[in-house]
Amino acid sequence: MGFPDADEEHRRGPGGRPAAPVRKALPMSPDTSRTDARAPRMSAQDARRRLEHARDSRLAQLRALDAGGRDAADHPLSAQAEAIGRDLKEIDEAFARVEDGTYGRCLGCAKPVPVERLEILPYTRYCVGCRRRAAV
Ligand SMILES: [Zn+2]
Repeated sequence: MGFPDADEEHRRGPGGRPAAPVRKALPMSPDTSRTDARAPRMSAQDARRRLEHARDSRLAQLRALDAGGRDAADHPLSAQAEAIGRDLKEIDEAFARVEDGTYGRCLGCAKPVPVERLEILPYTRYCVGCRRRAAV
């Protein structure tokens, strides 16, 4: 069992077949793919979009809490609402950081927060290391 792709490569190599009419380059926008692959940081536009999305989902959660909360008095809904409120505040602050150009920089060590982390938690203020230290 092998990877069919790898096999294919293998066969083509030693076969020494002249590069047959190679598949034509697709008319993709090369600009977009290039920036995507290179971008070490999240663009302000991307950051805003993610933050907006995060805010929308928090607001939806709040609405859902509000709608279902009245009957379930014995659930600690206020704690949840508080947590969401905190998130919303952080999201607002993150928007402000996008505006002043400090977005994506850890407030603890001033290093750029990895994009993968921002994708998961777009409003985070800290890199994983600083967050861990702050949370303890
Ligand atoms: Zn840090």
